[in-house]
Amino acid sequence: MQWKSQLHNLKAYQPGKTMEDVKEQFNLEKVVKLASNENPFGCSSNVQSFISSEALSHAIYPDGYAKQLRMKVAGQLAVEPQQLIFGNGSDEVIQMISRALLDRTKSTVMAAPTFPQYKHNAIVEGAEVREIPLDGKGRHQLSEMLDSIDETTAVVWLCSPNNPTGEYIRKDELLHFLDDVPSHVLVVLDEAYYEYVTAEDYYDSIELLKTYPQLVVTRTFSKAYGLAGFRVGYGVGSIDVISKLEPIREPFNNNSLGQGAASAAIDDQAFIDECREQNRKGLQQFYEFCESSGLKYMKSQANFILIDFGISGDEVFQYLMSKGYIVRSGQALGYPESVRITVGSPEQNEELISLMKEFLALPKQF
Ligand SMILES: *Cc1c(COP(=O)(O)O)cnc(C)c1O
Repeated sequence: MQWKSQLHNLKAYQPGKTMEDVKEQFNLEKVVKLASNENPFGCSSNVQSFISSEALSHAIYPDGYAKQLRMKVAGQLAVEPQQLIFGNGSDEVIQMISRALLDRTKSTVMAAPTFPQYKHNAIVEGAEVREIPLDGKGRHQLSEMLDSIDETTAVVWLCSPNNPTGEYIRKDELLHFLDDVPSHVLVVLDEAYYEYVTAEDYYDSIELLKTYPQLVVTRTFSKAYGLAGFRVGYGVGSIDVISKLEPIREPFNNNSLGQGAASAAIDDQAFIDECREQNRKGLQQFYEFCESSGLKYMKSQANFILIDFGISGDEVFQYLMSKGYIVRSGQALGYPESVRITVGSPEQNEELISLMKEFLALPKQF
C-alpha cells in the first residue's frame, strides 16, 4: 500500500495506564489519577440535570451547527456566532486548522516543549515543523519564533498557558508578535487552560481578535469545565478565517450529549470561579512543598505543575504510581527530570505531597 511517507515514523497516541490497571498491578484499593489535567471536582451539577432530564431521541443526528451551544458561547464571548467553529475537543480544531493550511510545501512554527498535537498533525500533512525552544523559565521565545517565519510558513502555534510548563505569554510580547507577524500567517493561540488563569496582567485574547484578523483562539470544555469525556472544544476567529475552516469540519462532529452538556455547563460560571480558586490554592500547596524541599518548579497559570526532581522523572512517576497516584513523567514531555502533576482536591494534593516527601527521604540508590 502507498502510505504517505511521513507516516512511517509516526506513533499512535499512547494512552497512560488506566486506574484499573494500576489498582490490579499494585494491589491497591484506591487510585487517584492526576495525569491528564482533568478537573478533580468533576463538572457543574447543571450537567447532571441535563443528562437525566434529556429524553434524547438517539436515532436523530445532532445539530450539525451546534446552534444552542454556539449562541451561548457567542453570547459569553460577545462575538458573532459565525466567528466560532466547534470541534470534537479542541484537538479536532487543531486537526482542522492543520488540514486546511498545511501540506508538503508549507512550514509551521511552534514552541518546544509544547502540546504535542500541533506537531503530530503537521507531520500527517507533510509540513516542515520548526520548533523554537522555550526559554529556561518555560516561556515562549516569541522573537525567535518570529525570526523562523518565512514565506512558506502557514501556521504559528502559541500555547498559553503552555502545556507542560504552565507559563503564559506576556501581553506586551504577544502584541509585538502580532504586530510583526506577516499577514500570510495564521496565528493559533491555544487557551485550553484559560479558565484557570489568575495572573492580573493576562491579556483578553477575544478582544485581540478585533485588531488581529489572522488570530484564532482555541478553548475547550475538557479542562476547567470538567467535560473531557464529552469532547467539546472550539476555535474563535474572524468570520473570514472561520468560514475557510468550516468546510473541513465533519457535518456532525459534535454529538448531541456533548453539545447539551457544554451548554448546561456554561450557565454555571460560579462552578468555574470556585474551581479557579480551589486550583489557585492547590498550586500554593505544591509551591510550598517545592520551596521547603528545595525542588525547582515553574509557576503555573494552569491546573498542573511541572516539578524538577533532578533525577529521572520516570523514577518519581513509578514510585508514586506504586502508591496509587498516577502523574505524568516529564520524560515524554521534554523535561526528563520532572513530573507534571495535575492539581487535585486539597486532600489529594496533601496525600500526594506526603508521598513525594516520603520518596525524597528514601536512601538514594547509586
Ligand atoms: C488538553 C489540551 C487540549 C485538548 O483538549 P480537548 O480535550 O481536545 O479539547 C488542547 N490544548 C492543550 C494545550 C491541552 O492541554
